[in-house]
Amino acid sequence: MTELRKKISIIVPFYNEEDGAQVFYETLNRVMDGIEGIDFEVICVDDGSQDGTLAALIGMTERDARYKVIELSRNFGKEAAMTAGLEACDGDAVIPIDADLQDPPEVIQGLIQEWKKGNEVVLARRIDRSSDSFLKRKTAELFYRVHNRFSSVQIPENVGDFRLMDRVVVEALKRLPEQQRFMKGLFAWVGFKTVTLDYARHPRAAGSSKFSGWKLWNFALEGITSFSSTPLKFWSYAGGAGALISLLYAAYIVIRTMVQGVDLPGYASLLVAVIFFGSVQLISVGMLGEYIGRIYMETKRRPLYIVRKHHGK
Ligand code: UDP
Ligand code: MG
Repeated sequence: MTELRKKISIIVPFYNEEDGAQVFYETLNRVMDGIEGIDFEVICVDDGSQDGTLAALIGMTERDARYKVIELSRNFGKEAAMTAGLEACDGDAVIPIDADLQDPPEVIQGLIQEWKKGNEVVLARRIDRSSDSFLKRKTAELFYRVHNRFSSVQIPENVGDFRLMDRVVVEALKRLPEQQRFMKGLFAWVGFKTVTLDYARHPRAAGSSKFSGWKLWNFALEGITSFSSTPLKFWSYAGGAGALISLLYAAYIVIRTMVQGVDLPGYASLLVAVIFFGSVQLISVGMLGEYIGRIYMETKRRPLYIVRKHHGK
């Protein structure tokens, strides 16, 4: 039996990466040219960049037929950009990778080797995050801990979007209808035979991170609320516990009044109880709001992204 040539799709989201685009192109090409017996396509998704990124990408499609560009009509965010790439690619396996060379293309060779052994998902795990700030590392650690405690879908720690996925996995991902796509969670949710490969994470090649602390916080909220309803249940228990304590306290006051007679002072305890339960209610209503807001967004069924133009063929 003759072995058919396999094709790999590499998906790269670009948002204002003009400074790094050229090095990325050269580095990735060096890696692809060094891998024998495999065809590549590189799907660059321009996520509404306001700088010269798009022009640089179009330049790549002219110099190298493996490159294609999907130009989105505005900035839709990395998750949507990756989804656009996943839906457009047709390789036997897919590798999403960041444009800033923080996911080193040299690792691709190893990913492919593991895939050829029959694994459907090959995770690239960063063993050294010293290129990220102390705060970012610590908050990431906390996020994984909280998420994995709350949710039945376990997200592996120190694994980003950089990975190889077989076509069967990509087809499974495409069937997930949700609008708010927390990719790391969706990747984990679909399952499949998975192995892990370690690598050291580099600092950004050029430009600066597109994720501020506030954006990451919202991203973390998205992750937890997409995969767990534990935060909602928490309030039933908190409410139950509060009601029990109040009942005991009420019983204590009634008995005390019966024994000692009417007693006016009690302003402090009253106020404390009012303020405490008032704020607990506000927090729980806010938590409900987080979920209702997401239900609201989900029901609109808007497309995840809008393509202005496809470049390259
Ligand atoms: N990115 C994107 N859209 C956005 C933000 C980021 O396509 O709205 C891309 C960005 O160009 C890069 C990747 O997502 O290729 C990862 O972004 P970044 O390096 O800023 O994230 P970090 O490594 O700091 O988590
Ligand atoms: Mg980065």
